[in-house]
Amino acid sequence: MRWSIPLARVAGIEIRLHVTFLLLLAWLGLTFFARAGLPGAARGLAYILGLFGSVLLHEFGHAMAARRYGVHTPDITLLPIGGVARLERIPDNPREELVVAAAGPAVNVAIALVLGTLLQAAGVPLVPERVNLLTGNPLVGILWGNLFLIAFNLLPAFPMDGGRILRAVLATRMDYAAATQIAASLGQAMAFVFGFLGLFFNPLLIFIALFVYLGAAGEESLAQMRTVTEEIPVSSAMETDVHALKAEDPLAEAVGLILRTPQRTFPVLDPAGRVAGVLTREDIIKGLGAGGPYTRIGDAMQSGIPVVRPEDVLHEAFLRMQRCACPALPVVDRYGRIVGMLTTDNVGELVMIHSVLKRGERPTWRRPWG
Ligand SMILES: [Zn+2]
Repeated sequence: MRWSIPLARVAGIEIRLHVTFLLLLAWLGLTFFARAGLPGAARGLAYILGLFGSVLLHEFGHAMAARRYGVHTPDITLLPIGGVARLERIPDNPREELVVAAAGPAVNVAIALVLGTLLQAAGVPLVPERVNLLTGNPLVGILWGNLFLIAFNLLPAFPMDGGRILRAVLATRMDYAAATQIAASLGQAMAFVFGFLGLFFNPLLIFIALFVYLGAAGEESLAQMRTVTEEIPVSSAMETDVHALKAEDPLAEAVGLILRTPQRTFPVLDPAGRVAGVLTREDIIKGLGAGGPYTRIGDAMQSGIPVVRPEDVLHEAFLRMQRCACPALPVVDRYGRIVGMLTTDNVGELVMIHSVLKRGERPTWRRPWG
């Protein structure tokens, strides 16, 4: 995510802090200080940090559950509105999605139980009217904050965890796209209720309504994309008019092709004509900057890129592309000869055409997990 600062790396997951989060802390610190002096500011900030610590652990809950199913999480970003764990992909199996979705709120349940037990043992009253961020015990505030996080995240609406749990439960009984459709419709109906209540009571609800509405729309197109891509082979989405480069040629050759053709990502072949890697426009620029126009293409390309076959299922190929974070996948025939290229643009265009044909909606790309 742009404008976010890497903070630490835990269990192979990078924790990032969005700069607006620091602004929020500074603003709250100053407000607390103006209202209750230094002790008030210290208590208030301890509460905020404890609450966001709980959000961070919630995201780790998702990430650790996903890891059980072989899904990696490159990073978790903390924003003023909450946390976002960027899962490499969403598990296909509804049962797995259910576990991953439930793992986040389960962490908050555990935190609330531990805090509740400790505070009870220490004889601290837990009643909500005693919660005062500036004079009260921050741990009581953090306990109530976690209870709120549980309730909010379990709302049966995308992009909340409750929406995913609902979809997963429905998907065990019906088609994935149909389950998504029902869950998304329920979410959008809830968004209207929130928006309406927001007009009269709390403007924050309007913001949540918008968030929920967009989440539902995004999730629906994603399920639609999956339905489309599960039915067709790679050959119907790949680009066939592909120019290939040779690993031993200089980068100047690639520059010429970039200027003459609309192609932006090139397969690179070894002397035997087999695919050795992929060269993107960014790789060309990087290679030119580092070694000039006579750099070998083989030294500037990305290697270790998997190849797919024209008859492979598009959905599988697309998952493989996501897993390796590859810009494109070369498509080869059974003799290893290049016959095309598959890029995210191709898949996007194809799905867009399909969904326009079906019911005139535009799909969007994968969503982060909150
Ligand atoms: Zn969550």
